[in-house]
Amino acid sequence: MIKELKKITNCEFLEDKEDIYPYAYDTSVALSSVNVPFCVALPESIEDVQKIVKYAIKNNLVIIPRGAGTCHSAGCRVSKDERRAIIIHFSKMNKIIEIDEKNLTAKVQPNVVLGDLQRAIDKFNLFFPPDPSNLEVSTIGGAIALSSSGPRTFKYGQIKNYILNLKIVNGEGEVVELGKDLRKNVTGYNLCDLFIGSEGTFGIVVEATLKLIPKPACTKLILAYFKSIDEAGVCVTKILTSNVQPATLDILDDKTLITIEKFNPTGLYTRYEAALLIELDGEVESISAESKKLQTILEEAHAEKIVNTDDKKANEDIWKARRSSFACCAKLAPNVVTEDIVVSTSKIPEMIKFIRQLSQKYGIMACIMGHAGDGNIHPNFALDLENITQLRNFKELKDELFKGALKMGGTLSGEHGIGMEKRVYLEDAINPIAHSYMKQIKQVFDPHNIFNPDKAI
Ligand SMILES: Cc1cc2nc3c(=O)[nH]c(=O)nc-3n(C[C@H](O)[C@H](O)[C@H](O)COP(=O)(O)OP(=O)(O)OC[C@H]3O[C@@H](n4cnc5c(N)ncnc54)[C@H](O)[C@@H]3O)c2cc1C
Repeated sequence: MIKELKKITNCEFLEDKEDIYPYAYDTSVALSSVNVPFCVALPESIEDVQKIVKYAIKNNLVIIPRGAGTCHSAGCRVSKDERRAIIIHFSKMNKIIEIDEKNLTAKVQPNVVLGDLQRAIDKFNLFFPPDPSNLEVSTIGGAIALSSSGPRTFKYGQIKNYILNLKIVNGEGEVVELGKDLRKNVTGYNLCDLFIGSEGTFGIVVEATLKLIPKPACTKLILAYFKSIDEAGVCVTKILTSNVQPATLDILDDKTLITIEKFNPTGLYTRYEAALLIELDGEVESISAESKKLQTILEEAHAEKIVNTDDKKANEDIWKARRSSFACCAKLAPNVVTEDIVVSTSKIPEMIKFIRQLSQKYGIMACIMGHAGDGNIHPNFALDLENITQLRNFKELKDELFKGALKMGGTLSGEHGIGMEKRVYLEDAINPIAHSYMKQIKQVFDPHNIFNPDKAI
């Protein structure tokens, strides 16, 4: 089959076991068996992507699109029957096609890395807000497929607010433009929004038109430390109901602060139970006014220590520390598993305490942080999955965690997606009719079920 694929395309294929083996993995930990794809395609053109898809239809193969492979929900892994899976890795489709300064848009290929995009548009004083913590590797194709978010979602909204148009290859191998390169468009259904977050199950993003905004003039970072999670939680609600609009409102618990300081010392205080990481952005005058109001709110909410910084380098160091939390936790034990739960913002303290109870009950360390302003909590569990007892305990912990989140009126994922790991809980998480609509929509985009089967829905 690889011979035939090489004949019909101009594409490079990886087929040797040692080359394709790494593609059996993404950043999710393998709680079940790991399957290796039969080859990896590295296309350079949309035409080659179409040809591979058409070949897959004819030969009953499945396709797994892949960007940086940092998916936490096993979205890049082969679900079953490795002889049938082709991974399409977009590393050779990584160009910024156009930055349109006048219309504030950028047209990009799927493997453009978010951090590179930020730096490229920075020269034009433009800004693309979506900021997953791993933006130095995360690709636009993967971020669109997962609807990736980050701390700035709190003020600026999700990635879908910044995607104007998508060019995709669908499950018939056709190129389809889902929107228009326009800032406003309600002509027909919004298929772009429908596609965003579809976890590579509808088709392949081969080009995206992004909406850009002017870059905020300055930023100011405030770290507010609290004696207890409850006080930090009350403070989150106070900020949410005030007329201050920070760009970010993240929370870090004591274990996260201690772990970051242990492996990436940055000068964070480690004797408090929780910290809120708040960034203000905008013009100097507006930041100054908001900062005063925020100071009052923090003091009224009993923040024990408030650290302000508007030095660019100091701000970046703190953000680097925050973004390193997953990597730091990974040094605590052979494995680290990040989870992704959403609850209403007022229930954050309840959720954090619940995670701590589970951590104690099952003897698995949890460093907890999250985007408090969005109710999105990420516990990082440090454990040894080769230890049979820990593996069994972790499976039970996860089960209780998801069921507990649903019981609190929350949901299974805010940004990492469902992938293969959380599908078993979908019945309890979404309305059955809505779930059947989702399956029917998948059929419309991908009638032969070749894209990421057994995932997302
Ligand atoms: C340290 C770390 C920190 C992270 N922080 C965050 C965070 O703050 N916020 C957040 O939301 N996520 C976060 N993530 C999760 C994830 O890495 C991001 O969501 C990231 O944007 C995914 O990009 P990727 O290029 O790695 O995608 P991949 O992992 O390669 O792919 C993700 C999914 O998209 C599909 N896909 C990939 N490319 C395409 C394409 N061209 N067309 C269609 N489908 C495609 C894949 O099949 C897969 O299902 C983090 C992960 C790590 C390891």
